[in-house]
Amino acid sequence: MPSQQSEPPDDRLARLRGPQPPQPYTARKITALTANPACARRAVLDAAGVDKALLAQQVGYEPRFGQSPFALAREQAFHGLVKWGGYAELIRLLREQLSVPVAEAHVTDLNEVGGNTALPVRERETRRLIAHVASGQDVRLILDRPVLALEVAGQTAYLEPDALTHRIEGKFHVVLIRSFAAIDGQANPTAVAEAAKQAAVYVLALRRAFDTAGLPIEQISHKFLLVCPKDFSNRPYGRLIDLRQELDALQFQLSRLRRAEDLAAGLPETATLDTTRSTDELSSSIEALDASYTPSCLSFCEMARYCRDEADGCASPARLGNGVRNDLPGIDSTRTALDYLDGVAAPGEAEVEAADLLRAAARLRRLRRGAA
Ligand code: SF4
Repeated sequence: MPSQQSEPPDDRLARLRGPQPPQPYTARKITALTANPACARRAVLDAAGVDKALLAQQVGYEPRFGQSPFALAREQAFHGLVKWGGYAELIRLLREQLSVPVAEAHVTDLNEVGGNTALPVRERETRRLIAHVASGQDVRLILDRPVLALEVAGQTAYLEPDALTHRIEGKFHVVLIRSFAAIDGQANPTAVAEAAKQAAVYVLALRRAFDTAGLPIEQISHKFLLVCPKDFSNRPYGRLIDLRQELDALQFQLSRLRRAEDLAAGLPETATLDTTRSTDELSSSIEALDASYTPSCLSFCEMARYCRDEADGCASPARLGNGVRNDLPGIDSTRTALDYLDGVAAPGEAEVEAADLLRAAARLRRLRRGAA
């Protein structure tokens, strides 16, 4: 389970969240954030560490999102199996599947450092060990639950990959343990794609750790090791997966995120995202943050039902998907678009082209109906 975010975010963000403990950034959250980089609402909620599922509930929306308790329990059980006996199964996989001479591999537990579980402390210790291993002093080390730092929307996110392992083909590899099965060597492509996006977050964070330590990032593999159950058994199976595409996309998307502090600074002084406050206070504060709803939000954001109703209410073209939004540049409401079509209103200079296209589309539709 992810640990608490131990370094408080910026004061304004912490004040917005109120007395609740901050929710940590996770690789899953970062990939969701980069899936909709234009959304100021999500950027501020995540940077402030707000519990979005609880917030959605407090304003009257069941998030209906996240893994089922059954799936979580299965994932935890599989993690336990892979890690059992000092990562015996992972070491077997490295030896059998990837021809790594790891007979004498050993594991360093980074779940705590001398009894201290604070993320910044574990992150410092992770960097120290990485420098130690990268210098060639210890080539058979597996780091269990290391902590890596990454800048996200101007905030430091502390991330916990399942494991890092050294020297498969002389390079560091991120390891992800997932409980979806690989049947005859093939796992569900959607689940693998999601795991790859999260692994890319860890690889970028690992590059940052190398950079900070003055180590060559060429020592970091652009492939990660995915470990999942083989066929219908619980026997762990491992496969290296190339991440170059995901890394390029993620780097680009992270560079487009605006600083959450700057976005929060634009809110009224009375704004609050404290989930113990009244529904009215919360709703008006959420509304003050610009959202960028698209139907894909339903697959990754706890606020999606709230934002969908809001987009419905103002007839946002994005409610119908990015395709419609892109086809109606400058027109911020489908009602306005219909008024242009019906001749009830005249488009402005910036909207003429989109309105012409709409009329042409409507003409074609009428012709097709007439021909039918
Ligand atoms: S559901 Fe709302 S808050 Fe979440 S990403 Fe979409 S628009 Fe942003």
